Amino acid sequence: RMAIVRKHQPSVISPGAKLPLGLQRKPLRVVVTGGAGFVGSHLVDKLMARGDSVIVVDNFFTGRKENVMHHFGNPRFELIRHDVVEPLLLEVDQIYHLACPASPVHYKFNPVKTIKTNVVGTLNMLGLAKRIGARFLLTSTSEVYGDPLQHPQKEEYWGNVNPIGVRSCYDEGKRTAETLTMDYHRGADVQVRIARIFNTYGPRMCIDDGRVVSNFVAQALRKEPMTVYGDGKQTRSFQYVSDLVDGLMRLMEGEHIGPFNLGNPGEFTMLELAEVVKEVIDPLAKIEFRENTADDPHKRKPDISKAKELLGWEPKVSLKEGLPRMVEDFRGRIFGDRKEKSA
Ligand code: NAD
Ligand code: UDP
Ligand code: UDP
Repeated sequence: RMAIVRKHQPSVISPGAKLPLGLQRKPLRVVVTGGAGFVGSHLVDKLMARGDSVIVVDNFFTGRKENVMHHFGNPRFELIRHDVVEPLLLEVDQIYHLACPASPVHYKFNPVKTIKTNVVGTLNMLGLAKRIGARFLLTSTSEVYGDPLQHPQKEEYWGNVNPIGVRSCYDEGKRTAETLTMDYHRGADVQVRIARIFNTYGPRMCIDDGRVVSNFVAQALRKEPMTVYGDGKQTRSFQYVSDLVDGLMRLMEGEHIGPFNLGNPGEFTMLELAEVVKEVIDPLAKIEFRENTADDPHKRKPDISKAKELLGWEPKVSLKEGLPRMVEDFRGRIFGDRKEKSA
């Protein structure tokens, strides 16, 4: 691994120089697949700030150049338009594998493509990790628990997933990606990490991606009614993106494979979420009930004891603190001020 680092990335810091805090490590070469997306772009910002060289691999299905454009011109940054379903040759130390549409609207748009991305895409990135001896981190999802029969969900829970439903391309796809990851670890000695991410929100989310936080915020800003699906009593736990990025990096750098739940245990019904959005944006905002989608999980809340104990991680930003930061970004994008804001 050292040879690779020296060959391609001479240290930007001269030996013996006094390092600022947070830079006291050798810069690494890191790939972030899906790095032009919502979570990926925030992760890229953190890795760049740490002094690493970052290669973003993205096919721009849901990602946008605007999310990473502020790094253009930096010699430590590269952006490759590439679909992970096709093989890829690179030399790096770490692979953060995020490429996959995350919102139901997007992953149901072309379900076969979604499952190919999860299965063939993950296989390719694991093949890459195996060939170059890189450490591989998979961003799996709380959806592997399906419509859970245990509450809150612990990592030991095997889940309650419909294998033939409209969400299966995503949740069964991610379950297979976890299987592949563990089989490359056991069979080929690849160093792997698995994160199970719970609902995450923040600046740079796609405005019209259909997820509940982005929908409610965009609707309230546009003075449209907030669309509550079903009776609005189903629950989710909402994590601010900077907390997630912190958890992903701790997991990659730490010694434990996981899987680890990464989410905020604060649990809200959709009606309660609508109330928080009203408080932040418009106390007069209205609610409109719509029919719910198929296979919608009734409850979801992470048990994060394992991440707390083994990664020393827990979320710091509450919904009431995080939401205004996202609203500021959405307001700018919806009403024309195109300035990008970071978390
Ligand atoms: P996103 O849609 O903003 O980002 C996904 C990125 O992957 C996009 O930039 C997209 O263009 C890219 N991509 C999709 N298919 C690709 C392909 N075949 N080849 C190359 N690039 C491809 O979503 P996000 O919210 O940033 O999610 C990132 C990861 O985290 C995903 O793997 C998702 O499953 C996981 N996750 C997210 C959440 C959440 O709440 N945001 C929850 C659980 C899991
Ligand atoms: N792969 C890749 N980049 C690499 C090495 C492998 O994209 O640097 C792909 C390769 O094309 C294959 C997959 O990863 O489809 C799995 O590779 P592996 O070597 O594990 O399996 P094999 O090629 O022997 O089937
Ligand atoms: N939801 C809603 N209104 C919307 C979008 C979603 O009430 O405009 C509900 C949806 O039915 C689900 C919850 O919000 O119960 C979370 O949905 P999302 O798509 O954000 O995430 P996921 O279902 O993947 O957790």
